[in-house]
Parts: sequence; C-alpha cells; structure tokens
Amino acid sequence: MSKVKLNNISKYFKESTALNDVSFNIKEGECLAVVGPSGSGKSTILRIIAGLLEPSSGEVFIENKNMTYSKPKDRNLTFVFQNLALYPHLTVKQNIEFSIKKNMSKEELTTHVETIATELDIFNHLNKRPHELSGGERQRVALARSLATNADIILMDEPLASLDTSLKREITDLILRIKTEEKKTIIYVTHDHNEAMKLGDKILVLNDGEVEQFSDASLVYSHPNNPFVAQFFGTHPMNVFKYHGKLCGVRREDIYIVEDGIKVQVIDVNKIGGDIFVSFTYKNQRLVLLTRENNIDIGDEINIQFESLHEFQ
Ligand code: ADP
Ligand code: MG
Repeated sequence: MSKVKLNNISKYFKESTALNDVSFNIKEGECLAVVGPSGSGKSTILRIIAGLLEPSSGEVFIENKNMTYSKPKDRNLTFVFQNLALYPHLTVKQNIEFSIKKNMSKEELTTHVETIATELDIFNHLNKRPHELSGGERQRVALARSLATNADIILMDEPLASLDTSLKREITDLILRIKTEEKKTIIYVTHDHNEAMKLGDKILVLNDGEVEQFSDASLVYSHPNNPFVAQFFGTHPMNVFKYHGKLCGVRREDIYIVEDGIKVQVIDVNKIGGDIFVSFTYKNQRLVLLTRENNIDIGDEINIQFESLHEFQ
C-alpha cells in the first residue's frame, strides 16, 4: 500500500507553472528525498501534500484516501519548515507541548514530552527558551515538536540548510534513527546531494516543475534518466559525451588510467586534498577523471579505460 501518492499534480500560478504533471508514490517507512534547482517546485509539492496549497489539477492520496482537498490537520502529517519557527517566548517544553492534540492528561503529556526529549538529547534543555540554545539544539527541538504530534508522515523543507557540516551529519543520523525506530514516512526536500543519498530510499529529481527522475536513490547516481540528472546530481557532474555514436555518461571515478587503453591528451590537472581531477579530450570532448596518481601533468598523453559506462535511452 502506498502511504503517500501523487497523481498527475499540476500547479499554475498567474504567471508561471510551478508543477507540471507530477506523480509518485512511496510506501510506509520510506524516505523520499526531493531534489532540484531553486524554483523547481520542491516547496510547492510539500505544501500541496501538507494541504497548505490546493493543486490546479491532480490528486493527493494519503493511505489510499483521496485527501486533495482535506484540511492539513486531517492528513496525519507534520511539517518541519526551512526556517524553523520556535515560539521565542515559550520554553522548549512548552514549544514541544504546543503541537500535541489536547487529549492527554497532564501526566501523560509530561511523560510523552520527556521521552521524546530524552531520545533527541534535549532533556536538560526543557526549561530553557530558544535563544538560550545552539543552532543544532534548536533544530532538535523543532524535530521533537514534529515527532511529538505522533503523525506518521513528516514533511521537511530543507531543514538543515543553515547548519554547518558536522551538525548536518549529527541531525541526519538522528533523522535516520527516527525513521527506522519509529517507522515514520518522510518526505525530505534538500538541495544537498549527499543528504539526499544518505536519507532517501527514493529520490525525486525536479526541474522547472517537471519530474526528471523518480527512482531508487542509488539509481539516480549510477543510472540517471537523462543528461540533466547526470549533470545536476552528485558532488561533481557526470561526464556526458558521445561514445561510438551513442550519448553516454560516466562518473569521474569510473574512468581508469591504464597501461594499454584509449590514448588521450591531458589538458588540465586540479588537486583538491588527496583527489586529483584530470581533464582530457576524447574525440574533441572534454572529460574529467578522478585519480590518486600524483605524477600527471598538462600535456601528458595517458591511456584510459571507461568502466560502468551508462547509455542514455
Ligand atoms: P523550490 O522550493 O524548488 O525553490 P518553489 O516550489 O518555491 O521552488 O517554487 C516553484 C515556482 O513556483 C517558482 O517559480 C516560484 O516563483 C513559483 N511560486 C511558488 N509559490 C508561488 C506563489 N505563491 N505565487 C506565485 N508563484 C509562486
Ligand atoms: Mg523551497
């Protein structure tokens, strides 16, 4: 059974098309990472799923029920925004309690909040106010607040965009734990490919409101649907080039320097830490390979071999 399913969703604003015919479905306990350039429609998708925005056409199904026009509160979901808005005048405890439906006794409520706070390692901060916390702690409070609702589906819109790398790692580890232990279904918008690959079971790549790819996360990296995905997704763009008359792609780490292979001319060498990026021309096309070999210079002739060559359909 799909937990969240979008059927042919389009959204038109006066001047522009934000989404054009977007469909996908994910199962319970899966994480979908939504990636795409700025303005590609990522936040619009989340807002339509959350019920904050109506689509121009198409349907949203949650647990097989058509929820396209239902109120946000009836959708069994919770939303962590890009700019996490904690109430500044409330304590951490009050911030977390605020999101909970008021059908618990005072004791139940306290136990519930304390359990979540312990899990997210903010128990000692329950009586502080947001301005007394670090960025990472505030982020954990925002997550705690979402989890406390008991909603099965968590929507997150670039929740870590303003955090530094080590905090990002800490919080993504935490999200992974929550997902596994609490069987939450997560839809996670990010422009960070590493986050998408770490968290996503499935990845949806958007461009200009259109789906460029929806597939298992690993396939987006190794088997992109088209040159757009190949060059957009990944820390470095995939090499896209003509090979024996066919349009192909190959990742930088899948081009090997060998004793006896295709002869090419080195046109540039870039060292970044231990990684050495060697640019060369193959039949008048510029490609880049990644190596650890330290003795290559501009102008050298080297022999290469392509591995895992991906042919675009
Ligand atoms: P992303 O989150 O990927 O950066 P958005 O979903 O915010 O992209 O926006 C997608 C497109 O829809 C953009 O061109 C944006 O300008 C437009 N858009 C979003 N919200 C509105 C709105 N309320 N009114 C008009 N245009 C909007
Ligand atoms: Mg956005």
